[in-house]
Amino acid sequence: MQILHIIILYVTSYFPAIFQGQIVCVEAEFSRMDENQQFYILACSTCKQIFTRLYSRRRFYCATCRRSANFIPRCQFDITITDNSGSETTLIADQPAETMLHVTSEEIYDIRYTKKQMLPLANVTSQLAGKTFTIHVKKSSAKTMDGTPGKLIILSYAEKQNIIGAPSSPTPMDTAASSR
Ligand SMILES: [Zn+2]
Repeated sequence: MQILHIIILYVTSYFPAIFQGQIVCVEAEFSRMDENQQFYILACSTCKQIFTRLYSRRRFYCATCRRSANFIPRCQFDITITDNSGSETTLIADQPAETMLHVTSEEIYDIRYTKKQMLPLANVTSQLAGKTFTIHVKKSSAKTMDGTPGKLIILSYAEKQNIIGAPSSPTPMDTAASSR
C-alpha cells in the first residue's frame, strides 16, 4: 500500500513521465465532492472524443470523425481523497463514477442539463463518510487545458473488506472486478 502524499509528489512534480499510466493503490477516504459541478461531460458517440466546454446535447460536426455526429453524456466528476499524509483532488468517470452516484450518465444529463437540478447526493456522501477505501489511481495522460499536469484518475475503488454495491443494493450488481 502506498502513501498518497508520496504518490502525489511523484506524479505532479518529480517524475511525471515515469508515473504516467502506472496504476497505484492507496488507502484513503473520500473526503469532499463539490455538488455544484456538472457531473458529466459530452463525448462523440462514434470516436469518444471529449468536448469539455459543451454541455448541450445536439448534433454537431466532429472534426475527428469528419462527419456529423451525436453527443453522448459520460459521468465524470472531481472528488477529493484524503489519507494521513494529505488530500488530493481526483477524477472519477464512467462505470465506477455511476456506481458511486447510483445514477446513469443519461440520468445525470437529464437532471443537470434538462431539469437544471442538483444531483441527489445526500445518500452518496453519507455512504462514503468515515470509511476507508482501497482505491486504484492512475495519472491522466492528458494535459488539462491550462497546461497543468493531469489529475489522478480513479480506476476502481472498494471499501476495505466490502465490495461496493454488493451487500446493500437491491439488485445484484457485479461491480467487483476491483482489486484482485
Ligand atoms: Zn467523433
